[in-house]
Amino acid sequence: MSVPASAAKRPPGLAPDVLSVLNSVFGLPGFRGEQEKIIGHVTNGGNCLVLMPTGGGKSLCYQLPALLREGCGIVVSPLIALMRDQVAGLLEAGVKAAVLNSTLTFDEAAAVEARLLAGDLDLLYIAPERLLTPRCLNLLGRAKVALFAIDEAHCVSQWGHDFRPEYIGLSVIAERFPDVPRIALTATADDLTRKEIIDRLGLAGAPRFVASFDRPNIRYEIVDKQNAPAQLKAFISERHAGDAGIVYCLSRAKVEDTAAALTKAGIEALPYHAGLDARMRSRNQDRFINEDGIVIVATVAFGMGIDKPDVRFVAHLDLPKSIEAYYQETGRAGRDGKPSSAWMAYGLSDIVQQRRMIEESSGAEAFKRVSIGKLDALVGLAETTNCRRTRLLGYFGEKASTAGCANCDNCLSPPKLRDGKVMAQKLLSCAYRTGQRFGAMHLIDVLVGRLTERVQQFGHDKLSVFGIGRELNEKQWRAALRQLVAMGHLQPDAEAFGALKLTETARGVLKGETEVMLREETPGSRLRASRTRSRRGDLASASGTSGEAGHPALVGALRAWRSEVARKRSVPAYVVLHDATIDGIAASRPMTLHQLRDIAGIGDKKLEHYGDELIALVKANRTA
Ligand code: ADP
Ligand code: ZN
Repeated sequence: MSVPASAAKRPPGLAPDVLSVLNSVFGLPGFRGEQEKIIGHVTNGGNCLVLMPTGGGKSLCYQLPALLREGCGIVVSPLIALMRDQVAGLLEAGVKAAVLNSTLTFDEAAAVEARLLAGDLDLLYIAPERLLTPRCLNLLGRAKVALFAIDEAHCVSQWGHDFRPEYIGLSVIAERFPDVPRIALTATADDLTRKEIIDRLGLAGAPRFVASFDRPNIRYEIVDKQNAPAQLKAFISERHAGDAGIVYCLSRAKVEDTAAALTKAGIEALPYHAGLDARMRSRNQDRFINEDGIVIVATVAFGMGIDKPDVRFVAHLDLPKSIEAYYQETGRAGRDGKPSSAWMAYGLSDIVQQRRMIEESSGAEAFKRVSIGKLDALVGLAETTNCRRTRLLGYFGEKASTAGCANCDNCLSPPKLRDGKVMAQKLLSCAYRTGQRFGAMHLIDVLVGRLTERVQQFGHDKLSVFGIGRELNEKQWRAALRQLVAMGHLQPDAEAFGALKLTETARGVLKGETEVMLREETPGSRLRASRTRSRRGDLASASGTSGEAGHPALVGALRAWRSEVARKRSVPAYVVLHDATIDGIAASRPMTLHQLRDIAGIGDKKLEHYGDELIALVKANRTA
């Protein structure tokens, strides 16, 4: 495409053509973080690996170089929905973009191929399995290729949670096209995955650009699981009424039940899991993406490649497998930088269940050990009484301020700790005296002195530990038990399901040599009393957008207009305008096209297509 001469919004000291393209095509005034360095490097023909959190702005890192370099940028992307939405967004901005995947008819694909060969495309998104066909490799060999971008590059990792066998074959890119720059991008940052990406994609020696993984606009909260469905309903209705969100569950049955329960409570919720038929699944996904304020209840099958920028919350009703998975899943909230929540309900049964799944899996011992280690790290995060963000970033090798983040539950409402030595001793002796063959429920029955059938059957009412814990209630004991498991003094027995046995470290506790501090559990969410967010962020966003506060009528009118345009053009609403752009218009109320052009998100094409209508809307809502 031609590089426009427009130089509005340009900060001094940066190469003019890069900035003018950023400004005229994407309507953005400047770069974020490492973007500028990465774009310069790739535009000059360099290879690199980019590690940036979700919402960090990875797309620009290959889209801009593709526009600046001669030829067409080839983007390898694992999901059809993602390609479709990205291309829709690019077309809106006037970029010559297309997809090549299995959704095209033969004739459509032939037309795209012809455009590629004719030099009529800036960006082409290709599914990996398609790219690997001899026909496609041959086609690329005859075309002028500006660069290869491998998105979601962690899919090459066999250790990872998103492994895609087709990605392994992508090593062919480096072999066949050694002179074309390659940029691999991912939001998964652990070392093992990094190494595999570098190996498989031939990036040894290429620079790595690592952005901070912090997502300051996401508020982390992990609550003690009591009655998860009720807790979830309260969380949504009190803090995110009318917002779009994702709820993750482990099983298909739980997905169905949860979606039904939310619907019954008047929350618009749709299920998504691999057991639904394909049409229903994609319909639910499309509604979630295209409409405002839908909650999708899903297994982890949902989410990768979902680009929706205005997901306001991600809730977990079950424990994910690792911190990586937790971070990736919660990272789907708030891509647009506006305040969002990551909320999880977690209890002892989650640890026991995940452990059992690992023990019973068919994997090799080494794999199981790695998996248990990852689970333990996540449990550590759930149990920590310190800043969750600091803990998360620390896990990814980043140092955060020791003062805490002021945007997680532990920082906003520090948990109370109590000396739990005696409680721990009672629990551990109870497990020991009953032969280390029983689960939480039975141990608590014995402690509080409940004469159940089982207690009598095993004669546990005759033991010295019977009834020694009457001073506390069942809920308190359950929380203490969970924390002892998390601390590693008790451990689920791999052989006997549900049974808890003592570990090496338990001896120190029983002898009184080891300190045990326990968290005092408070019912429900500790943040309930904290600021409640209305439908559309009445809090100023962390990224500095102003929110709708002063101009609800104008925001409403802009949103209604956007829905209508999106519906007519069959694209997601956010492809027409982002929430942040709508907020920008509402805040600065432009009266001329020139003023409108100054708002982030309004590039030349959007100005041309929508400028007059938007100005008319602003004028019509002047008195609001
Ligand atoms: P990622 O692929 O890393 O998850 P995206 O490329 O989708 O992130 O970008 C996330 C959001 O950030 C998008 O809404 C995008 O428009 C916005 N964005 C990216 N770069 C910039 C920038 N330099 N200035 C302002 N907004 C940006
Ligand atoms: Zn914090």
